[in-house]
Amino acid sequence: MSLINTAFEGLKRLYGHLSRVQRTVIVVTLAMMLMALVLPSSNQAPPGMTRVSLPLSVDDSEFQGFSAEKSDDEEPKGHLYYVVAKGDTLSKIFENLGVPQATLYQLLEADVNVLALDTIQPGHKLEFQFDEKERLTRFTFRSGLTYMVDFTRGEKDDFEFVEHIEKGQHRSEVFVGTVQGNLHLSMQNAGTSLAEAYTVSNVLKTRMNFRKDLRAGDQFQLVISRQYVKGQYTGNSKIEGFRYLGKRRTLEIYNFDGNFFDEKGRSLEKAFQRIPLKKRYRISSNFNPRRRHPVTKAIRPHNGTDFATPMGTPVLAAGDGVVTRVIRHRYAGLYIQIQHGRKYRTRYLHLKKAYVRKGQKVSRGQKIALSGNSGRSTGPHLHYEFHINNRPVNAMKAKIPEVKTIASKHRKKFKAMVKTLTARMETFAKAQQDELQQAQRDAG
Ligand SMILES: [Zn+2]
Repeated sequence: MSLINTAFEGLKRLYGHLSRVQRTVIVVTLAMMLMALVLPSSNQAPPGMTRVSLPLSVDDSEFQGFSAEKSDDEEPKGHLYYVVAKGDTLSKIFENLGVPQATLYQLLEADVNVLALDTIQPGHKLEFQFDEKERLTRFTFRSGLTYMVDFTRGEKDDFEFVEHIEKGQHRSEVFVGTVQGNLHLSMQNAGTSLAEAYTVSNVLKTRMNFRKDLRAGDQFQLVISRQYVKGQYTGNSKIEGFRYLGKRRTLEIYNFDGNFFDEKGRSLEKAFQRIPLKKRYRISSNFNPRRRHPVTKAIRPHNGTDFATPMGTPVLAAGDGVVTRVIRHRYAGLYIQIQHGRKYRTRYLHLKKAYVRKGQKVSRGQKIALSGNSGRSTGPHLHYEFHINNRPVNAMKAKIPEVKTIASKHRKKFKAMVKTLTARMETFAKAQQDELQQAQRDAG
């Protein structure tokens, strides 16, 4: 409290030293900041437009090559470049440049097909081309290094557009590091971006318990394919391979056709198997939310699917998750509930024996129980429930992310890829190790 008071007193004294003009500026700025907080953004910008930027800054060099269609002999006269900065709107930019609002609306009409101008942000680049009557004939929007939309005034006086997406060059890079502190920081120390570190840890955490499995000094290796445009990293990248070589855990991740798999070709995505059993059993009772009681005729929904499993049939976790319940219930019998992320939940009823405890992490396909006949049951079976957003759905028909395994025809290609990536990571790690030892010898 005293700290705040001291700061406030300091500010008051400082304010006292300011000139009248300075004070006015401060008051007006504060008032504007307050208004910006209070007023909804729709009061500040026309609908469909995002608030953006400030001063007119010309940066020709940045645009070299981006106006690929611009011929070199063309007069630069009537050309204007604008870098979007903080605090301005698209309409304000047009106003400052003396471009009629009607022209802006024509552009926005064309933009409805791409919605590029909706996402205008500080740092984005605008390019204007006017004719001798100062009419806007061409307008180019560029975000980042890879995306550009080119609007040209057509014959009917409206604007036509062409979208350009720069492919750039992809460079595959190897990174090797050791765990010191948390994984994100350790990966960034090894040269990855925070986004890349997150991508990896999101896949990893489906299989690893960071608190238990991570040890200081554990080694990790990565191959990342990064996109470059004119030698500049665009921020777009793809994790090609990752190996975690720990004292407690070893885990490998490989990207194949946009999906992550372990070294054996098993999917590492959050996926489910449709049936929580090793093989198909006869369905003795289907999911039926409108089922009526045979005697009372009251609606007694059957929120699950019953499989006619003999006593002691292994029951498997339908997906990766955390066991949230292992309960012996009067009617449901011994049952298990697993939470799979926030959205999905599964339940397994009438069990004979449970192999998991509450709070335990399980992975897809893991044996969690033996089926039985416990609780109120007319005979040995497994009652299986699948919930999406806390609502039971028909597990046999619901849209659920299903298991992807690498098709046998792609196996050879996958294995070859794993071999190549592993060799690259190992070579890099070895070179790094040799260098370190050499440095130590030199120092000693
Ligand atoms: Zn049932």
